Amino acid sequence: MARYSIQNNDTPDSPPEHRRFDRKTVGGKTTWMSSKIQERAHAAAKAATEVAVHIANPATAEAVAQEMIVPERREIVSHIKRKSEVPLPGEIQEVEPSTTQINEDALIYIRGVVSQAIEEGASDVHFEPKREMYQVRIRVDGVLHKVEERSIEEYQKVLNSVKVLADLDISEHTIPQDGHIELVQEAENTKGDEKHYYDIRVSSFPSVNGEVIVMRILNRANALLSIEELGMDSEMLEKLNEALMTSFGMILITGPTGAGKTTTLYSVLGELRNDEKNIITLEDPIEFHLDWLRQCEINPERNFTFERAMESVLRQDPDILMVGEIRDPHTAEHAVQSALVGRIVGSTIHANTTIGTIARLIELGIPRSIVGHTLNAIIAQRLVRKTCEKCKVIYEPDRKVLKHFGLEKHVGPFFKGKGCEACDNTGFKGRTGIYSLMTFSDELRNMLFDQKPLIDIYEHARLKGMKTLQEDAAMKIFAGITTAEEAARVV
Ligand SMILES: [Zn+2]
Repeated sequence: MARYSIQNNDTPDSPPEHRRFDRKTVGGKTTWMSSKIQERAHAAAKAATEVAVHIANPATAEAVAQEMIVPERREIVSHIKRKSEVPLPGEIQEVEPSTTQINEDALIYIRGVVSQAIEEGASDVHFEPKREMYQVRIRVDGVLHKVEERSIEEYQKVLNSVKVLADLDISEHTIPQDGHIELVQEAENTKGDEKHYYDIRVSSFPSVNGEVIVMRILNRANALLSIEELGMDSEMLEKLNEALMTSFGMILITGPTGAGKTTTLYSVLGELRNDEKNIITLEDPIEFHLDWLRQCEINPERNFTFERAMESVLRQDPDILMVGEIRDPHTAEHAVQSALVGRIVGSTIHANTTIGTIARLIELGIPRSIVGHTLNAIIAQRLVRKTCEKCKVIYEPDRKVLKHFGLEKHVGPFFKGKGCEACDNTGFKGRTGIYSLMTFSDELRNMLFDQKPLIDIYEHARLKGMKTLQEDAAMKIFAGITTAEEAARVV
């Protein structure tokens, strides 16, 4: 007799707008069910004479049982994995427990690892199988730290449980998969019952020793830094605010991967947010789920590319459009067109500097005059670790490094963290941005219309007070916000 198990981590309060869930009303009860669960239930019902349903939410389990499985095969069992609930006798069908089931111990373990990672302020958690052990590493402030090593024997359970939680296909081991977990964490040490919501992007990748799991932790609260919280000085903020007081045009954020471009872009959108405005985002993938945005995910596998999305999104009547990234001539052209017809377009683009961004747009086929007409602001940025406030001491940085920032003549004092418990002996705690902001005066626009060389445009912007990344870094080094060595890593 073939037996199949269907598993899911539906929660009773899965929100209606959650993209992976469909609403089902069964027997007067409404529940939310992911389409994958429905597909699997159908497939299992066809293939098996018995189907076991292992689902966190009783209402969903009931709905699967009643609606999804053909009646003549309804030897269905709903099983609730919550510890407090004692299953009724005969209610549970064990189906190859070692390989196909969510393992309770593994769940508690994963939850513990992720909670610890969140407490440490990690952005990523890696589960990496080796030959005899698997290791867990977390990335804090951009640097990977090993947390522990455990026996490879336990890995299969951990791997399966993560995959089930993230709605990945547990029978597939040979191709990379992407999924998503939502986590609600009760905050300790705070008054009341504060809750933090995390979106965790899960990706599995096959390696010779088994599948590697990487979880990217995205705190929704962090996703919404106000522009004042980004770490720009007051003069730069004033200029940015001025540039945002516009009814059309482009705001571009540039920098290497991991420079915090998306966070800045969301902050800008947050600043432009207004109940009378329709804000639509096209993202690949969606990094943060925010309910005041209409977020759409690009899906190249289904041929829903940036290009196609851009072609049709204007019919959705946006006032403000966020495009995850401008990376090809078509996306660039559509972004510019949208700005020309009176929309505000925010996007990221791969370049190193503000002037490099203009060069990149020209390279992507946008005429200089149009660049001059549509751009409102370019922000170039990098991320640096902040010096730990708890263990800050005066020190003498390498003069060569100081020279890089034009600080060689300064006597200091300069500060670094000497390492303490609060910063895990790294001397750093948290991160901030290093920025260069280019805004567009009429003079600058005219220079672009007149086809002036980019070097002239750069010099004009400098004359009008545009800071370079080095200058912004120098200010932050001098203020003891970060160290010269740390800034030299990225600027
Ligand atoms: Zn410290």
